Amino acid sequence: MAEKRDYYEVLGVSKSASDDEIKKAYRSLAKKYHPDVNKAPDAEAKFKEINEAYEVLGDAKKRQTYDQFGFAGMDGSNPNGGFNGFSQGTGGFDDLNDIFSSFFGGGGMGGMGGQEQYSSRSNQPRKGQDRYMKMNVSFMDACFGKTESINLTVDEQCPQCKGTGAANPEDVQTCPTCHGSGTVITQQRTAFGVFRSQGVCPECHGTGHKIKHLCPRCGGNGYEHKRVSVDVKIPAGIAGGQQLRVSGKGERGENGGPNGDLYIEINVLPHDKFIRDGKNILLDIPVSAVDATLGISVDVPTIRGEVSMKIPAGTQDGTQLRLKEQGVPDIRGGKNGDQLVRIKIEVDRKLTSKEKELYRQLQMLQGEGGKENIFSRFKRNFRA
Ligand SMILES: [Zn+2]
Ligand SMILES: [Zn+2]
Repeated sequence: MAEKRDYYEVLGVSKSASDDEIKKAYRSLAKKYHPDVNKAPDAEAKFKEINEAYEVLGDAKKRQTYDQFGFAGMDGSNPNGGFNGFSQGTGGFDDLNDIFSSFFGGGGMGGMGGQEQYSSRSNQPRKGQDRYMKMNVSFMDACFGKTESINLTVDEQCPQCKGTGAANPEDVQTCPTCHGSGTVITQQRTAFGVFRSQGVCPECHGTGHKIKHLCPRCGGNGYEHKRVSVDVKIPAGIAGGQQLRVSGKGERGENGGPNGDLYIEINVLPHDKFIRDGKNILLDIPVSAVDATLGISVDVPTIRGEVSMKIPAGTQDGTQLRLKEQGVPDIRGGKNGDQLVRIKIEVDRKLTSKEKELYRQLQMLQGEGGKENIFSRFKRNFRA
């Protein structure tokens, strides 16, 4: 037998490699040299060598011993040792199963044949996968809520057989091959160890039972593929990005398990004028210089209609005024948000001759009467 190669060399990693690096190196080599895949004459030996190296380097304690003592620390005196291929329950075995479930698309190592069969539990009822969808909701519907009907295709339990797929309850019999477990475990001894693998029972395809007479309504499926209309209640105050859960409208469950749920993510469409900020509504309103100067009461649009608001005399451009509780309802039934009204002072470009005359008088008055105007006050302070 050839001399043993250093374990680090076998996996092609450095002595300071991290656990992740070791695992990665092992996985790629194990895939490459697995005898099911690699038919080269030395593949089996390589595969064995790789696994032996990983059994040590993949285990922090064994790795430490190996680093300290080399192969001398790795002989049969180690109670966890004995690197003669796989033994059930070692880290290496789990990893190998992992590799093969990703490699062969989840089939495990079922194709390896075997002499012994065991059963295990995998036909337990399992909830189906959740489903996700997006829904556009208008700005106002998000504020005040709405019930929206959506059409979906969903697998619903067959009402006649209650999901069993059998014409009558006594038609459901335990599968003789897997004794009801739905899976079979095969074990194979090879030159480099014992492989155990679990696969779906070929007789019952994992259900664990055989049905003598199929349900006439669903043909034995136990479910019906249906187009259904579902009422989705959109609560008042919902915000974009929030999700609604519709129970039982996800993917079909397995082995009589319930369906998954449907999650609907809400996308709130923008409004032309209102801007939503959490529970608050922001709105800009234009106000003339005269109204801002003298003050005025205006009817401001809100999501509930117009509300009277006082703009005080001397209001500056950009001032924000608050209409308490005129914002979005609280989704949990608390206080409404507010509406924040921002004043944008606009200068009128179309004046009547009468207006123009009055503005001129005002301008002259501010120039003569000893009253300093806004710009000359700025200039004075600028120079100082
Ligand atoms: Zn049925
Ligand atoms: Zn079976």
